[in-house]
Order: sequence, then C-alpha cells, then structure tokens
Amino acid sequence: MVQKIAQAVAITAKEDRSTSGTLHGSRFTRHERLKRAIGTWISLWLLAAAAVAIPIAHFVLVPLLLVAGPVLAYWRYRTTEQLSAVEGICPLCRHALILAADTRTPWPYWDLCPHCRGNIQLAFADSKDVRHADRQETVIEEMEPKR
Ligand SMILES: [Zn+2]
Repeated sequence: MVQKIAQAVAITAKEDRSTSGTLHGSRFTRHERLKRAIGTWISLWLLAAAAVAIPIAHFVLVPLLLVAGPVLAYWRYRTTEQLSAVEGICPLCRHALILAADTRTPWPYWDLCPHCRGNIQLAFADSKDVRHADRQETVIEEMEPKR
C-alpha cells in the first residue's frame, strides 16, 4: 500500500516575500518496499541473463548486473518515502509553479523559479530549522500500486 503524503512548505524570496506551497510525496509500507526490491532484483538479473548473448560486452555486463541486483534491491528496500514535487506560487512573479522535489539536498534549499528565474527558498512550514524527522505531514490517500 502506497500512502500519498503532503506537507506545507514556505516558498520565500530574498526580499522577505513569501508564499505557501505543498510538498507531495509517497510513503511505502514494508510490504510495498519488499515488492519494489524484489522487482528490481529480478529485473537486473533478467538483464544479466539477456546480456550473456552480447559478445565481449557480456564479460563486463553480466557480473556488473549480477552484483547490481541485490545492491540496488537493498537500496530500494531502504527507501521508505519518495518526495516528488513542490506545488505553490512564486513569491516574485506570482505564477503557479511545480518544482521537482530535490531529495538529495538537505532542506531548506534554494531553487530557481521556472518563470522568472528568480531565487526562491523552499523550507518546511512552521519552523525555520526543521529536519526531516520533525516534519508535520498529512496523509492524503492510500492507494494500491499500479500494475
Ligand atoms: Zn517566479
């Protein structure tokens, strides 16, 4: 079961102009994480089996894919949530914006408005120094994964 989550974010520009937005994402249950991991592992090992037929390249591809299968499956299993997008209004140009959520950069972080190319800061609402563990989230809906 995949839970859709949403969290309020503050979108701020340098001149103390600020608007609010929403961070969207998904949270995976243990069962869903296991299914994703097994799917990744099987896919990579099937690719390894197919790579056996490729002359010369199979010396590299087959061992690489055989090792990548369990490694990426473990990584995928450990992924408990996936942030997808920030939706809101640019405080500078007032255009509606949808930005891909940067999951590698620690929050808050700076990004560019796709309309006016102005610098905007995305931060979790409520607090100026909020870490991931302290976030206040809302579960929007729970949905069965698509097949
Ligand atoms: Zn803008």
